[in-house]
Amino acid sequence: MTATAIAPVASTPVTGPAPGVPRMLTGDRPTGRLHLGHYAGSLANRIRLHRRYESFFIIADLHMLTTKNSPEDIAQIGRHAADMVLDSLAAGLDPAHSVFYLQSGVPEVAELSLLLSSLVTVPRLQRIPSLKEMGQHAGQREMPLALLGYPVLQAADILAVQAAAVPVGRDNAAHVEVAREMARRFNRRVEVAREMARRFNRRYGPVFTVPALVPADVPVLPGTDGNAKMSKSLGNAIYLSDPPDEVAAKVRRMYTDPARTRAGVPGTVEANPVFVYHDAFNDRPAEVAGLKERYRAGKVGDAEVKEKLTAALNRFLDPIRERRAALAADHGLVEELIVTGTERTRHEVKRTVADMRAAMGLTAALAGFRAAARARGR
Ligand code: ATP
Ligand code: MG
Repeated sequence: MTATAIAPVASTPVTGPAPGVPRMLTGDRPTGRLHLGHYAGSLANRIRLHRRYESFFIIADLHMLTTKNSPEDIAQIGRHAADMVLDSLAAGLDPAHSVFYLQSGVPEVAELSLLLSSLVTVPRLQRIPSLKEMGQHAGQREMPLALLGYPVLQAADILAVQAAAVPVGRDNAAHVEVAREMARRFNRRVEVAREMARRFNRRYGPVFTVPALVPADVPVLPGTDGNAKMSKSLGNAIYLSDPPDEVAAKVRRMYTDPARTRAGVPGTVEANPVFVYHDAFNDRPAEVAGLKERYRAGKVGDAEVKEKLTAALNRFLDPIRERRAALAADHGLVEELIVTGTERTRHEVKRTVADMRAAMGLTAALAGFRAAARARGR
């Protein structure tokens, strides 16, 4: 992973991408602001890919309900969704190529999901290893029905907009175990979508685009505390919206090589989070190479390595912060994008559901009843 040039964001609101180009679907559960881990693991790839497609970004609030569904959690959806869209735009997603939509604002997806659920078996879903763990992680001892159905709803999201492409993590290129695990889990779930699309098309007729997996490396960014993964819930994250002094404070407290008790002791660079961040975000490779060499030789203090990291992160984050502030000052812009995106998506999904019903023969049955009822009335 290398620091990615950040694309400018259009200042005037746009209605969204022109129809006709292949579609991509990706997105997140609205659980909070985005951090450097999100950027490294998915946002950078989205920014790189999204202009090639008509890109749909789902704000998956219904998926969030499978593990977080208290009234307090639900009350946060609006703020979190707006924050995530703001972060994504500030980081470089171009609204001219992006459709942001709120999953719960497209209730037709639930019908699509129900119709698809006949095409998959319970054991098939139970074999997806991440589901049980997700439940346990959320403190649930028994599997909620919604969680078991998570991959079906996820398939419905993808197929509903006739997405041709779904970005996934590359299994084999992921060296770190967590990265491999993250890639494997998500890829398995997209496989369910492909299976169901094929099965539906075979049985009822060609309604669905079978989505292709667009693989990319999924670098997993460690936390500032040295944990293998930066995560909101672990409190070890640097957010895209953190002000410069907060970044400095977080970097000062960062975990480094624990064996290195003072500057004169040779240190380890590999898997040292300070250097992982340098590699990912410092736009001055010569500076990073120099620091690594001196670190290995015991010729540089942690303080200098961290000061340079703070400077590099702030160089990276400054334009993001600036754009975020400009976008946030344009009151109602993010909300408007979500509203128009949700309406746009709903329109597409209604069409897909109508095509499904027609292909399955459900439309014909009701139409038959209607015709008979009308004839009787004459
Ligand atoms: P939580 O602590 O609530 O689980 P989180 O900070 O781990 O939140 P998620 O919402 O679980 O964030 O992450 C959504 C997606 O963002 C993940 O599926 C993954 O693609 C990416 N992602 C999150 N954290 C990282 C990370 N540290 N490195 C790489 N990618 C990440
Ligand atoms: Mg997480």
